[in-house]
Amino acid sequence: MRISILGLGYVGSVAAACLARDGHQVIGVDADPVKVEHINRGASPILEPGLSELIAAGRRNGRLTATLDPDYAVRDTSLTFISVGTPSGEDGSLSLGYVSRACNQIGQALAEKPDFHVVVTRSTVLPGSVRNVVIPTLERASLKRAGIDFGVCVNPEFLREGTAISDFDNPPKTVIGATDSRSAEMLKRLYAHLNAPLLVTPLAVAEAVKYADNAWHALKIAFANEIGAICEKAGVDAQAVMDVFCHDLKLNISPAYLRPGMAFGGSCLPKDVRALNHFARGMNVETPLLGSILAANDRQIERHLSAVESPGNRRLGFLGISFKAATDDLRESPVLRMIDSLHERGYAIKIYDPWVSVASVQGANRSYIRNELPHILNMLTDDLQEFMDHAETVVIANRSPLYRGVLKKIGRNRSVVDLVNVVPQCRRCCIYPNNSSGLHNGQATAVAV
Ligand code: NAD
Repeated sequence: MRISILGLGYVGSVAAACLARDGHQVIGVDADPVKVEHINRGASPILEPGLSELIAAGRRNGRLTATLDPDYAVRDTSLTFISVGTPSGEDGSLSLGYVSRACNQIGQALAEKPDFHVVVTRSTVLPGSVRNVVIPTLERASLKRAGIDFGVCVNPEFLREGTAISDFDNPPKTVIGATDSRSAEMLKRLYAHLNAPLLVTPLAVAEAVKYADNAWHALKIAFANEIGAICEKAGVDAQAVMDVFCHDLKLNISPAYLRPGMAFGGSCLPKDVRALNHFARGMNVETPLLGSILAANDRQIERHLSAVESPGNRRLGFLGISFKAATDDLRESPVLRMIDSLHERGYAIKIYDPWVSVASVQGANRSYIRNELPHILNMLTDDLQEFMDHAETVVIANRSPLYRGVLKKIGRNRSVVDLVNVVPQCRRCCIYPNNSSGLHNGQATAVAV
């Protein structure tokens, strides 16, 4: 392919050298003449192991060149990567100044170019940036339409400085958001040789995933350091603790607990997070990250409450109240907290949960409910018809597959609030009336949070 790359910093110069090595014809563009001059004499503009050798090879075989002229570079290629910087503004906002300037330059070149061209945002940009800034700027400058006259993709970069070439060749995944399938296909061909999952997504998902990744990486480091600080103060070998921690590929280093949905609860997580924070405080170890976990969970419960209240119905039906499916343990169930709060606000509530039926609530749970939340006993019903007759809004509050069957029976004019993504269609949308599955008889609306 003939590829231009705007921005020859850490991301752009590595991509330029690697793509030239892979057999593509690459024109790199930078606003900084020093970087352009470096590449044209076969040297690396940045310090990165192995990069000088690749750039020198690209210059020798004539597949890599650099210029200050974006117009020439775009017109002479069919695919343009934007890998300019996206620095922080003073208030922490993302600055898209370099990106818009690059788009303006690319757009002006596209105005004079008859063939279809694909513009790929490789820079890290927040969700909505491509729809609200990249595409309008390109369209204004080119007087052409995105998705028709030219394509736009989002293709985040996952390399790490110091191992950038190896990371370019072995990414954890390749993510492609695209305005049209022709553009997505072009990028898919470019990366077809990589041994990594290739995921084609909507534009905003491709933008957001890079932020989810980086926030997660930062969170992991801060978490390990807080656990380390607590262990050190308590005289425990923190490296040994985290070594054992990392051996758990089922619950710790795994997709477990990584889907947005219900707040956490139950007899262990709240209690143990509380105790760990108390333990840290007792030793004067500051743990702002661990200390924020319960507050973050409370905030999620408030979001759930808003979702339940948003359809405006006064008669609510909860499918499931235990903190997870197929258990009758109600200790610190976030759903019970929600119900309690909604009850105080005057909502009429029925609860249907085969694992926590009127007949079966007993022992510790019965006394827990009787002491802590006595009004809950009157809300529980084993009679599905009674539940259905009552509920104007049905709230799905745990992931039991049983409730799919219940949902099939839901008739017209009833709202469904899915807090746990048990209804697959809810995952990607907020409100989906008239879905084709017939799940809601085409009338009920569902709100996923
Ligand atoms: P950088 O600052 O090293 O390089 C950006 C380059 O763009 C500079 O050389 C600058 O002169 C050039 N530039 C600015 N405007 C230009 C224009 N209109 N035309 C041509 N060149 C222009 O930045 P970087 O570290 O390579 O990061 C680029 C983007 O990639 C950022 O959004 C960053 O967040 C993201 N990213 C960086 C890394 C990393 O490890 N550095 C990893 C993944 C993603």
